[in-house]
Amino acid sequence: PETSVSVSQKSYSAGPSGRTIVYDEDGKPCRSCNTLLDFKFATNALHGKVADSTGAVPEAAAAAATVSANIPGSKHYRQVEPADVEELGRSSWTLLHTAAAKYPRQPSDAQKQEMRQFLSIFSHIYPCNWCAKDFEQYIRDRAPRVDSRDELGQWMCEAHNDVNQKLGKELFDCNFWKKRWLDGWE
Ligand code: FAD
Repeated sequence: PETSVSVSQKSYSAGPSGRTIVYDEDGKPCRSCNTLLDFKFATNALHGKVADSTGAVPEAAAAAATVSANIPGSKHYRQVEPADVEELGRSSWTLLHTAAAKYPRQPSDAQKQEMRQFLSIFSHIYPCNWCAKDFEQYIRDRAPRVDSRDELGQWMCEAHNDVNQKLGKELFDCNFWKKRWLDGWE
């Protein structure tokens, strides 16, 4: 991906994390390509604000809550446990909804076919067998709507709600899928 581009106000090549800040083609910091800390830093800079250090707080709190020993011989990597069904689910929904949010507004036939294939393969290899079986069935019953970003985002939201319902959770209002997974709330 491209690194830094020149935009109005200030743009930075690296954020507080030390990583290169990635910008979208429209010159805005890319939400799904940067850490939250760097994204907030770059967004604040674009709006002419001083970098907001509160962006670090949730990450710091999360890190403090999961303190564990490092892997032997490593100064950096902690002995993190393998993902359980919830962590796997949250991570996977993040991938699926974000992929829908970044799907082309007007996909080519090839891109539509790729997305259909991806979802089909994903439903076969999802590493929670019983979840995968239900997701496969959902796809058989309600084929993924891949004709546009909006249709795919709605379809994904409905698919996620099907699991929410199965688990007895509150349904998510799909009018807000784009704010949750693309634009943000501000
Ligand atoms: P999640 O349900 O993971 O949601 C994460 C975030 O997504 C929420 O905080 C909310 O902001 C947003 N969100 C919630 N609903 C929607 C929606 N409809 N549209 C858009 N955004 C939304 N777990 C099981 O126990 N049994 C299963 O059969 C099962 N099947 C799964 C199938 C798939 C394909 C996937 C990806 C996951 C599955 N899971 C299953 C995991 C389960 O869906 C949750 O991810 C997990 O229980 C953690 O739930 P959570 O409450 O933390 O939030």
